[in-house]
Amino acid sequence: MESSQIVIDADGLIKNYGSFQAVRGVNFQVFQGEVFGLLGPNGAGKTTTMEMIEGLRKPDGGRAIVAGFDTQKDLGKVKEVIGVQLQSTSLFELLTVEEIMRMYASFYPTSVPIKPLLEDMTLIDKRNGRVKHLSGGQKQRLAIGLALLNDPKVIFLDEPTTGLDPQARRTLWEIILKLKERGKTIVLSTHYMEEAHVLCDRICLMDQGKVVALDTPRNLVKSLHSDSAIEFRLNGIDEENMEQVLGELREIREVKSVDVRKDIFVLYTDKLQDSLIDLIERSAGGKLELFDLQTRTATLEDVFISMTGRSLREE
Ligand code: ATP
Repeated sequence: MESSQIVIDADGLIKNYGSFQAVRGVNFQVFQGEVFGLLGPNGAGKTTTMEMIEGLRKPDGGRAIVAGFDTQKDLGKVKEVIGVQLQSTSLFELLTVEEIMRMYASFYPTSVPIKPLLEDMTLIDKRNGRVKHLSGGQKQRLAIGLALLNDPKVIFLDEPTTGLDPQARRTLWEIILKLKERGKTIVLSTHYMEEAHVLCDRICLMDQGKVVALDTPRNLVKSLHSDSAIEFRLNGIDEENMEQVLGELREIREVKSVDVRKDIFVLYTDKLQDSLIDLIERSAGGKLELFDLQTRTATLEDVFISMTGRSLREE
């Protein structure tokens, strides 16, 4: 991509909390019009990284440039071009949806019309309802609507669907994709790999304050060199025979790597049929007593595990 299309440049961002380094030199660039995902487990440093870019937290090292403005030196200019989704828990509960929109709109020199914004957020029917009576999904949509009042170029969404039910999550995904269609640049943090896969043009995988990989979802999964996973449990496994069993599994035709998660064995392969047939033959030969066998395509979760040795879902 051309450099003129760079909207965010995070350059060596560092954040210390006392002696603990929460963000350890994060570099990435975000391009105009893309949905850029920060994906990582709790505590990976996603929120801290976003807040340094938004100018809400001062970095201890590095700098962030947004739409050509340095977040440290030109915060006023940065604020004009960004929209930040507030945590919905911090909304004024007693106001109605429309009242809170009008109040926030009054903070800006100019703002977009409220009615169409409420329609876009599918909140028009709720405009006279009090915030405290909204569902979790409706509150999140209101928080996003508030972030859009100044018609920002760049929108920051910090874990927008955490705690929402699947239906509410999908409604929010549709809203995010519509914003992208309108040319907005969106930076989104999440610990749901499915969400990152569906929404993001590129994903920055973060762990323990660092970037572990950055690419399109497709290329990240491709980097595994295996497009399928075979999962199963085995009877009669103990500490003593574990190494021997793992050795046997590694010998299975076309298997690229073998992983064990709790008591589930995972074989990675890009020739599913060959590997599966060999596995079943060995099982029929009595060497391996398989149960709960299933196959699936490799996911971002697999990429994360192969790069960090940990699951996205663990603390
Ligand atoms: P989560 O999904 O839990 O929000 P995250 O990836 O957004 O995780 P951060 O919130 O950026 O991670 O936190 C990164 C690390 O910094 C965590 O270990 C967290 O406990 C710590 N941390 C965050 N804010 C502070 C603070 N104000 N003071 C001390 N430590 C903090």
